Amino acid sequence: MAYKRALTRRIVIAFVAITLVVSGAFALSLVYVVHVVEEHLVAEELEEELNQVLARLSKMASSGDSSEGPGLPLEPKTQFYTSGPQGPAIPRSLAGSREGFSEFVDGADAFYVFQQTRHGLRHMLVKEQNEFEQREQALYSGVLAGSLFSILAASILGWLLARRVMAPVARLARQVRHRDQLLPVAPPLAPDYADDEVGQLAAAFDATLGYLRQALERERFFTGDVSHELRTPLMVIASSCELLVETGELTGTQLKQLHQIEVAGSDIQELVETFLFLARGDSRTGDTVARVTLAGAADNAMQRFSAMANAKGQDLKLIVEAQDSGSYNASFLAVVMANLLRNAIHYSDGGEVRLVLVKGGFRVEDSGIGVAAEEQREIFEPFYRIDHARGEGQGLGLSIVKRVCQHQGWAINLRPLDSAGSCFVVDF
Ligand code: ADP
Repeated sequence: MAYKRALTRRIVIAFVAITLVVSGAFALSLVYVVHVVEEHLVAEELEEELNQVLARLSKMASSGDSSEGPGLPLEPKTQFYTSGPQGPAIPRSLAGSREGFSEFVDGADAFYVFQQTRHGLRHMLVKEQNEFEQREQALYSGVLAGSLFSILAASILGWLLARRVMAPVARLARQVRHRDQLLPVAPPLAPDYADDEVGQLAAAFDATLGYLRQALERERFFTGDVSHELRTPLMVIASSCELLVETGELTGTQLKQLHQIEVAGSDIQELVETFLFLARGDSRTGDTVARVTLAGAADNAMQRFSAMANAKGQDLKLIVEAQDSGSYNASFLAVVMANLLRNAIHYSDGGEVRLVLVKGGFRVEDSGIGVAAEEQREIFEPFYRIDHARGEGQGLGLSIVKRVCQHQGWAINLRPLDSAGSCFVVDF
């Protein structure tokens, strides 16, 4: 929505800017032309009038007639001044006027002045121009009002046009936002639009959606296939183990190894379930999913990792600080606990690894190399491994832990330890 508004506003601004430039240029040239024409015409008229006055004066001088003023051919509101004896003297305020045409302002009054020097005498015509000035002001006001009006009209037109132009874009945005795009039944959008840029956008959207649907379909088949194809051999392993036990012919060591095969089989089964849940983004945990208590999951994990810890000369300890009565998704809890314990054992040499159970959660503490503060967020990202990472890991373990925790609404944090090492805390 914000984009659409911004685009509409940008169109209106463009309209107003163009109008401003055009009407501004028009108004300025009009003012300039009026000014030039005024100067030119008035100068010409006054020059002619002054010539007539001077001609009359020289005629009067030659005929000996000394009568002044009324006999001169002067236009109304025009005064003649001269530095010679044949007319009124040039007023002091006009003494500095230049030769030819100029304008003179005296308080609220404005005048045109035309001066000519002949035989060392200055002659001057002064014409009041208040009326013209008023007309000029009226013209300028008209031009200003016209410019303002055209800007207003441009903004209204721009707004109407922008709305019209943006209407299909807005409609497409609404359709994309509101309909359930991933439903295979959702009809394509492109046929609703003209074959213009918006139509092409709709077609591009349809095409992308098509790819997305195909990818989702492939993924759905893949998860279905995986779950089906892996479940069957796992069931075969489990039932074969049972049958072998039932024969009663196995030695103690063989039974132990058979038990390990059974445990590994059920671990794989759990992992498959976990990955399928995560892949589907399924928020249901389902009634059929096995549940386990925190203590139960911890016992399983201890059995599973004690050999690995022993092999590295580590002391793997289970500490119960408080009892927890909750029951949790067995696969998910096993995956989280297993990844944290495996890392704790993997990233420390010797020393102690502690699985500490508290009410509503657990901690996995080790005395290993620890994680630098600036990397404590990144290690939860997929494929992130610290430079000094050891072994063959892919950097996926903690990202799976994080996703499982998010899925279950659990919090996972890395808490600093007073001594060296790491402490991963899971809060249900
Ligand atoms: P992987 O162990 O496969 O590399 P993880 O996602 O489990 O991937 O861990 C990411 C990185 O976080 C590891 O490469 C390691 O550098 C660091 N890390 C994880 N757990 C610990 C730990 N307990 N002590 C020190 N570093 C750890």
